[in-house]
Amino acid sequence: MQDTLIPCAEPQPAPVGPLGRHATRAVAVTWGDRVVTIGGSSPVVVQSMTNTDTALAIDTAIQVKDLALAGSELVRITVNTPEAAKEVPAIREQLDRMGVPVPLVGDFHYNGHKLLTQFPECAQALSKYRINPGNMGGGKKRDDNFAQMIEVAARYDKPVRIGVNWGSLDHELMARMMDENSRRAQPWPAQAVMREALVVSAITNARRAEALGLGGDRIVLSCKVSHVQDLIAVYRDLSSRCDYPLHLGLTEAGMGSKGIVASTAALGVLLQEGIGDTIRISLTPEPGGDRTREVVVGQEILQTMGLRAFTPMVVACPGCGRTSSTFFQELADDIQSFLRRQMPIWREQYPGVESMNVAVMGCVVNGPGESRHADIGISLPGTGEIPSAPVFVDGERTVTLKGDHIAQEFQAIVENYVARRYGAPLVVQD
Ligand code: SF4
Repeated sequence: MQDTLIPCAEPQPAPVGPLGRHATRAVAVTWGDRVVTIGGSSPVVVQSMTNTDTALAIDTAIQVKDLALAGSELVRITVNTPEAAKEVPAIREQLDRMGVPVPLVGDFHYNGHKLLTQFPECAQALSKYRINPGNMGGGKKRDDNFAQMIEVAARYDKPVRIGVNWGSLDHELMARMMDENSRRAQPWPAQAVMREALVVSAITNARRAEALGLGGDRIVLSCKVSHVQDLIAVYRDLSSRCDYPLHLGLTEAGMGSKGIVASTAALGVLLQEGIGDTIRISLTPEPGGDRTREVVVGQEILQTMGLRAFTPMVVACPGCGRTSSTFFQELADDIQSFLRRQMPIWREQYPGVESMNVAVMGCVVNGPGESRHADIGISLPGTGEIPSAPVFVDGERTVTLKGDHIAQEFQAIVENYVARRYGAPLVVQD
């Protein structure tokens, strides 16, 4: 029989990894010796936002500390009233006393021009201001208020994020663009005009800020919307039309898995295309839920995409009928929580540990294979298998755990491995 395959060129390895990063200016956000750079060649920065009343300085400082310890590199706080603005220096002092140098970003709407002018210590204690040009009044009043905020930023040498949001888009700009659209030979759909208005508003206000005396390397932009496809379209457009660093986030992403999935879908596409210099995952926490979840999700997006490493990752199988007990699920969860808890200390003590991979597998089908590929792995016994759990270190089977203390023994093995592999080598004195 004749070979019917069409001859083709020598196969090449399929390309892996994100496209080249979109070139942006580098914006330094500082507090004391701490410098967090957004854009340029810096890794994508993870940030978060408190949900405490900023006027309650201690509550806010504690939540900022929690977010910073979870790995948030910038933390934004609402500055919405004179009471809140008055407490910002106290929050900053409290954080400094606790040894938490994370830069604070002030989130301003409506009255930012007044608060930053009336409370100069607040203006100084913040490391960056978020300005929403759609929430500053209309006409000349809006221009004056915007100019006032930019002048304060220039005076204190603070960077700003010009953050437009489709929920508070400049009405006059939108009305003008809809009028212009109606005169087009083929008018655009209203949604496309809205997206264009977001991009135009962000870039126009950034250029205005520069004209008012703020350095081009002191401006970050964001255009937030709450639908995945709109966000992707807006940021593709924005990144092709300017080189300001971009803050990514899906606004009002929602609660639970919906918020996480929607944010991941939108940010995953953009980050893969090299778009985005800092991210914030806007999750609605369950009542009493942990605010640090948004930091963890942001880090996990970047880490699972191979863009950054923050915490050793646990690979765990989903489980199936071959392992009917929940033991392996609990072990995987315990180990991931343990690794995350250790990171504030390990980060300093064991450089490189954040790239470690740990496998926790439910049975012999994929357990030994996956465990061998991890730095350290354990293959638990499935239903009907001999009740023993081989442990693999650097691809080699080392010990087999049995009995009631497998979880504790495996955790101790992980700790010893981390100390041995990532700890500073002992210096032998003569
Ligand atoms: S490793 Fe075993 S228990 Fe886990 S999903 Fe695969 S077959 Fe099921």
